[in-house]
Amino acid sequence: MRPATIKTQVSSGGVIFRKNNDMVEIALVSVKGGRVWCLPKGIVDKGESSEKTAVREVSEETGLRGRIIEKLGEIKYWYYIKEGNIKCRKTVHFFLMEYEGGDVADHDWEVDSASWFQIDEALKKVNYKSEKGLLEKARKKLLQNECAVS
Ligand code: ATP
Repeated sequence: MRPATIKTQVSSGGVIFRKNNDMVEIALVSVKGGRVWCLPKGIVDKGESSEKTAVREVSEETGLRGRIIEKLGEIKYWYYIKEGNIKCRKTVHFFLMEYEGGDVADHDWEVDSASWFQIDEALKKVNYKSEKGLLEKARKKLLQNECAVS
């Protein structure tokens, strides 16, 4: 078999939260027939900033509008695309976003569902280790009021 073609891909997404006294909720989406829970994200279009992509993708995938508070970090992983024998090296930027409006019932067809979870529940629910790391970081910031949240 010929060697795989290497491609790179950049996506951007958000940890969107709403706060009610000491309770912090985070929106997650499910994919792969509802088996995998993850943070909303999507491909950065040509000429688009990672911030703009994060706001757009969170809105499309979850039905929720949010404003960016700060960058949380980025994750990297490899995955293989059988059709075309492609190895893809992916980078995903993630932003902490405060909920401004919208309803998870308006999530789009690209995901199986979108739901709010208490942040500790979200930490248990999320499937990818790297995303758990980002949620831990967000949790710390939100519960210790380390960021400029109204
Ligand atoms: P996007 O949401 O950026 O448009 P996509 O839905 O096309 O992307 P990914 O979510 O990157 O694709 O999934 C491609 C492959 O990578 C899948 O097999 C998925 O299980 C795996 N994957 C997704 N996120 C992670 C992660 N954080 N760590 C490891 N593997 C991941």
